[in-house]
Amino acid sequence: MSQTSKVGRRRLLQSLAAASGMGLGGCAAPILLGDNSSERLGPNDRARFLVPLRAQADRIFDITVCLRPFRAAGPRLDTERIRDTLVVHNYGHGGSGWSLSWGSSTVAVNKALAASNALAQSSDRIAVVGCGALGLTSAVLAQAAGKAVTIYAREAIQQTQSARASGSFTPDSRIALADAVSPEFPALWEEMARTSHQTFRGHVGLAGDPVRWIDRYSVSDQPATISQLPAEGDLKFAAYRGRLQDLYPQGENLRPADTPFRADTVRRRSVLMFNIANYSQMLMTQFQLAGGRTEQREFHDPQELADLPEKVVINCTGYGARALWRDESIVPVRGQISHLIPQAGFDYALDYRDVNVIPRSDGIVVQAVAGGDMRGYNDDSLVPDARESDAAVQTLAAFYSRFRRSAPG
Ligand SMILES: Cc1cc2nc3c(=O)[nH]c(=O)nc-3n(C[C@H](O)[C@H](O)[C@H](O)COP(=O)(O)OP(=O)(O)OC[C@H]3O[C@@H](n4cnc5c(N)ncnc54)[C@H](O)[C@@H]3O)c2cc1C
Repeated sequence: MSQTSKVGRRRLLQSLAAASGMGLGGCAAPILLGDNSSERLGPNDRARFLVPLRAQADRIFDITVCLRPFRAAGPRLDTERIRDTLVVHNYGHGGSGWSLSWGSSTVAVNKALAASNALAQSSDRIAVVGCGALGLTSAVLAQAAGKAVTIYAREAIQQTQSARASGSFTPDSRIALADAVSPEFPALWEEMARTSHQTFRGHVGLAGDPVRWIDRYSVSDQPATISQLPAEGDLKFAAYRGRLQDLYPQGENLRPADTPFRADTVRRRSVLMFNIANYSQMLMTQFQLAGGRTEQREFHDPQELADLPEKVVINCTGYGARALWRDESIVPVRGQISHLIPQAGFDYALDYRDVNVIPRSDGIVVQAVAGGDMRGYNDDSLVPDARESDAAVQTLAAFYSRFRRSAPG
């Protein structure tokens, strides 16, 4: 196959995968788009009354870049002794750190509790290093188990990579390579994803809407039946979503004429999303109200962890573990999001032509996703790319210029 046709094929697959709302690492089952048998929507269906996005470059108020801490073998959850201190690792969650946080931290905290109870003088203190998604959830869970917890971190939550995530439940996004995981990993992943999902469901409806169900519209200009195959030369990322079928509400193909979108296919699903700013603030407040302490501190060598007063430490340093633990199995996977000024009434997520939109309360998140899971792989640049942001917003601007004020169908 020529290079050009390979690229063409990859682009076609990627745009179709984006239209279906799944990455190329998603499950391989073909998804029928543009099903003509779609039922006509009722006159009051909310899909008829969607608000257009004000897709203008001058509404971009921030561009943030984050490095996903990817490990081919999946997150590191083993334990290690450093002098008289037991370290439980909880890092390397790729593009799934928020989504797997509660499940992964449950595993880590259980190991920490077992170690703590086995100490000669059972200790009621646990240290957590890191204040991102994994650090905060580990700290809250350890407190719930009755431990006094101190978080030591170089950056507070607002400055972490976690604060720059987009906010979707994506538990197998760049979580591992299919052929590099242990035979036990898929079942462990499933357990972590289910535990997380259950915890998130318990946070739906809380003040500030930290976690919400929203409608997500995957819109395509191109009717097709797709089979999500990776392009030649791409790494084969693990895709386990099929194990959670019962957690994902069924999507439905809509008649485009019933919606304001001018498109060939429109698919709607309900998805779980996080308002990251509210959510992390809620966790921080919960931690502090339960007596949790935080200390700003940077570690330069694992040996320094053994100098802490706590003899059980949960290591949630994310991408920082690459330098601290000299763990070169961590590969940076760069991702960038643009933040548009929040817009009253714009309350749905959209996937269109390799651009994803999520309506968070602190800003409308726009993310270019062409390239699928390989996008940003092994790129550690934290420099924002304004052209990438502008191009994504331009794509949306062209799309919304064809938006109908009301659905004709
Ligand atoms: C564009 C983008 C979008 C994303 N969207 C989603 C999404 O929608 N859903 C999802 O589940 N995931 C998403 N992710 C992935 C998610 O952001 C990460 O998996 C997650 O942030 C990892 O969290 P963490 O707690 O391990 O690390 P971090 O958030 O990086 O936190 C690490 C903590 O450790 C501290 N630390 C590090 N090194 C040291 C040191 N040497 N000494 C002291 N402290 C140290 C840091 O200061 C920080 O407090 C996205 C990622 C990107 C790039």
